[in-house]
Amino acid sequence: MPQTNTLKYVSIQHELGMAIGTALRLRPMLLSFSRVCLRRLGLAAVHFHFRQLDDGSVQLRAEDDSHAVSLSHYLSLPLHSQVPDVADFGPGSGSAVRCAHRVEEGSGGHTYAFALGSFGVITLCRIKGPLDDAIIELLKPLIERLGLSCQASIEHEGLLLAIAARKKAEETILHQLLHDDLTQMPNRRQLMRLLEEELAIATGHESFGALLFLDLDRFKVVNDTLGHAIGDQLLIAVATILQGSMGEDGIAARLSGDEFVILLRRRAGSQAEAIGRVDALLGRIRAEFSGTIQAGDHLLYVTPSIGIELFPDGECSAEQILRRADTAMYQAKLSGLSSSVYYDRQLSSDLEWRREIEKELQFALKDLGQFELHYQTQHDGAGHCIGAEALIRWNSPYRETVVPHEFIPIAEETGLILDLGRWVLKRACEDVRRFQDSILPASFRKVSVNVSAVQFNRDDFVGILSDIIAETGANPELLAIEITESALIRNKESAIGKMAALRNQGIEVIIDDFGTGFSSLSYLSRLPVGTLKIDQEFVRNIDSVPGNQAIVETIVALGHTLGIQLIAEGVETQAEQECLKIIGCSLYQGFLFSRPAPLEDVLEALAVAAAG
Ligand code: C2E
Ligand code: CA
Ligand code: CA
Repeated sequence: MPQTNTLKYVSIQHELGMAIGTALRLRPMLLSFSRVCLRRLGLAAVHFHFRQLDDGSVQLRAEDDSHAVSLSHYLSLPLHSQVPDVADFGPGSGSAVRCAHRVEEGSGGHTYAFALGSFGVITLCRIKGPLDDAIIELLKPLIERLGLSCQASIEHEGLLLAIAARKKAEETILHQLLHDDLTQMPNRRQLMRLLEEELAIATGHESFGALLFLDLDRFKVVNDTLGHAIGDQLLIAVATILQGSMGEDGIAARLSGDEFVILLRRRAGSQAEAIGRVDALLGRIRAEFSGTIQAGDHLLYVTPSIGIELFPDGECSAEQILRRADTAMYQAKLSGLSSSVYYDRQLSSDLEWRREIEKELQFALKDLGQFELHYQTQHDGAGHCIGAEALIRWNSPYRETVVPHEFIPIAEETGLILDLGRWVLKRACEDVRRFQDSILPASFRKVSVNVSAVQFNRDDFVGILSDIIAETGANPELLAIEITESALIRNKESAIGKMAALRNQGIEVIIDDFGTGFSSLSYLSRLPVGTLKIDQEFVRNIDSVPGNQAIVETIVALGHTLGIQLIAEGVETQAEQECLKIIGCSLYQGFLFSRPAPLEDVLEALAVAAAG
């Protein structure tokens, strides 16, 4: 081999080797290798074919020989040159580089195909006659190197792709982990993370934030009547509204169901400033909810109840702050639709107490042995007993005493009063039987039973009472019910109807706590009322408080005009009784005469009085 050729070959070898280089990107490497080939070997074109998958990625090994992926064109230089057919060549196997030489008919062009590993083929096209054998020999080790380098690049790029795919999958999972599926809002987990971050900021910075707990009023009704699909639409619409009213440093999250939370970050320099920011936000939210909201084809009117807790609050953890905002929200619900309430320690302990009583009441209603009726007698001016009022007592196994003024309102709010009230009616009627069968003073007229407004306003009230009377065999002529004015305010016509139905059975209706409610006189005159019971608030110290005296005088005059009997309750002193007598009220109930006592004691005392 002549000296000049040897030098030329060495330099070609060197330049091609340099072009392969060590870079790890496949396409740039192939391009630079092709460029050197074109120039130094006097080629018309260089082509690469690889075993490729549908997505264009190169496959190094056929996974399954029976479905061996055929070679696809990958790259050519010049870019638009005619691509030769390499189907009959196929990638090689083993390490030795195979070379196939073909002379194109007609054009006289020479095509050399070399196997690149087991995954590809490089084709060199030359029109200026064949390549020297020496060149071909020289190319073989270079092409072997090129094959290895391709393999490394392909593996590297596959790795990059896999990493990217994995990163994307991780991001998706993380997103799902921290966001709510339906609204794509941050979920509870994400919210708690953010809140913890906020709390972790050194307390050295005097800055305050707030947590707002929102719960939609009557969302259940939407779900139950329009279906869950519309309910979901509504939640999405609410999410959009909240995110829109948020401002820069607020984050809205969905906890579950129709519960949302807004985190106002710690940007305020004082509590007052934080409250100012919360109030501004509340204003925006109220404005948004003042109109209807589109959910599917429906325009709905919903409002949120909102509980607010400012933070930091002492050493409170994120969980505690969330719970406090939740408690305040519960308080907001109790104060009526569409309210917002700031967390207050006192309020919350009251609330917890109420929740406990509620639970214990529920339990007690399954074990009615915990309840008892006591009776307090009523008297005329001569001291004769004219009747007795049934008053419930709760012997709770958990507490010393819970008085009716504490548990009756809770029972009313929670609806438990319906079961409790039915029990009272039943027991009172059973007791009426006992009165019937006992020796009573001739003056004795009625056993009266307190009936809650919630109970009285139910359509089935009269029916229930009639059934109980029939069942127990109580004499309805001996029975009276006491209801407050408030029970009569709602649905007046139906109240009049019920009272008439009761009176027709001989049951008397007494208006309890009279004077504290707001009765219209024209309405009162239409009611079949037997007795007005003057509230103890006016009886208290009536002898020394002129205001009370004036009120009682008015009530007495009213009673006389309408022909309604009057009784004063809570009479504790002789002086009070004297004063009432002068005003014209001649029936009394109170500690002056007797305290509420168990049935047996009352019956015994009545028998003694009847004998004496
Ligand atoms: P009320 O119907 O006004 O009953 C009179 C209350 O005043 C009773 O309290 C009675 O013990 C008390 N009292 C009677 N005389 C005097 C007195 O001279 N001085 C003072 N300071 N108090 C007197 P109690 O038994 O604690 O009941 C409180 C309220 O609970 C009742 O007020 C009534 O609204 C309700 N309640 C009691 N039992 C029942 C019941 O079976 N059903 C319903 N729905 N409510 C009931
Ligand atoms: Ca009463
Ligand atoms: Ca009363």
